[in-house]
Amino acid sequence: MAPNPALQESSLLFSTPTFRALENNLKGDINAVRRAKIVAFVKDANDAPLAVKCAREPGLPLAIRGGRHSPAGSSSSEGIVIDLSRYVNECRVDPERKLAYVGGGAIWKTVDETATTHGLATVGGTVNHTGVGGPYTWRWVWMVSRRPRTCGGQPSAGPSDATGEVPYEQMNSLQNSNFPHGRNYYFQGAIQNHYSAAAAKKAFERVCEVSLKDVSIVLGIELYPLRKVNSIPKDAMAFNLRGAESNIFSLAAWDDDSYEAALRGKEAAHAVTQSISISEERPKTSSVMAYGNYLGDEKLSSERSLKVFGENYPRLQQLKKKYDPDMLFSKWFKIVPA
Ligand SMILES: Cc1cc2nc3c(=O)[nH]c(=O)nc-3n(C[C@H](O)[C@H](O)[C@H](O)COP(=O)(O)OP(=O)(O)OC[C@H]3O[C@@H](n4cnc5c(N)ncnc54)[C@H](O)[C@@H]3O)c2cc1C
Repeated sequence: MAPNPALQESSLLFSTPTFRALENNLKGDINAVRRAKIVAFVKDANDAPLAVKCAREPGLPLAIRGGRHSPAGSSSSEGIVIDLSRYVNECRVDPERKLAYVGGGAIWKTVDETATTHGLATVGGTVNHTGVGGPYTWRWVWMVSRRPRTCGGQPSAGPSDATGEVPYEQMNSLQNSNFPHGRNYYFQGAIQNHYSAAAAKKAFERVCEVSLKDVSIVLGIELYPLRKVNSIPKDAMAFNLRGAESNIFSLAAWDDDSYEAALRGKEAAHAVTQSISISEERPKTSSVMAYGNYLGDEKLSSERSLKVFGENYPRLQQLKKKYDPDMLFSKWFKIVPA
């Protein structure tokens, strides 16, 4: 495949058949690691359209790569990968206006560390090598300040923990060693509106049952207050899940790259999520609703997208029609132009 001549001239595009667009994700059936034909390491806003054209003309599949955390494989492609992480990865903070200008390929570590130098902080991820572009809203936030907190992406003063001993930017790196790149991961989530100690015990027992020698499971029951999240109007952003319900998720991790191991990992994650959601009173929508980032499957139907984006889906369809009527960007959540 011949790269777009304009990109060749500026040496921004490298054809590399062995490039592993994602190294930390699923292989086998729900394959997250692919051999891209071309990886475009774009440098600025002028390069990106060239790379998109390069995919559009011959009809190659396309993916954007940010922090490469997607267990659904949505940032890898057998066609073209537009990699933002190499050059478009900086963060600049305007302390007067309390604004951060962040490159689409930056990771949260960069944002945390830059903001901290100005005595500022914002909500981000607790695994700080995640990209800023991939998560729509990051729900695990360790933002414990001696001064009043803010939430929802606004800068806040006082980047230290409650004891004042662990700086905020370090706090957000404490989980990194549990989730290294290079492993296989699979995510499964659901929403839940009631938990009891008995259900938690049952879920723990299920985790022990399904954890195998080669598949480990993390079960997350998110019990933090959602008042601030729920105060954001549903139409203020694409993702519209709000309400009293909180998330549960199970995250399976394993090292063996075989198809069989991938199936075991996937089954274990489903078994754990189900064990808790069937043992408690469930919201009517629980079987179909889940926080979007916890849906680890590669191709989600438009019906599923409708559940994630809710009343915002028609607006997304209009945007899709305007900017991407041919659905070149079609990974993960399917939005049908209308
Ligand atoms: C170990 C682990 C733990 C996780 N824990 C959590 C958690 O606690 N909370 C949570 O919310 N999620 C969690 N996730 C899920 C993670 O937030 C999502 O997979 C997220 O999409 C990853 O974003 P990324 O930029 O790192 O990844 P990528 O794989 O690079 O990108 C993810 C998606 O976003 C697109 N994308 C990325 N950057 C851009 C951009 N600049 N412009 C346009 N599209 C872009 C990609 O094409 C892809 O579709 C976890 C994932 C893993 C592997």
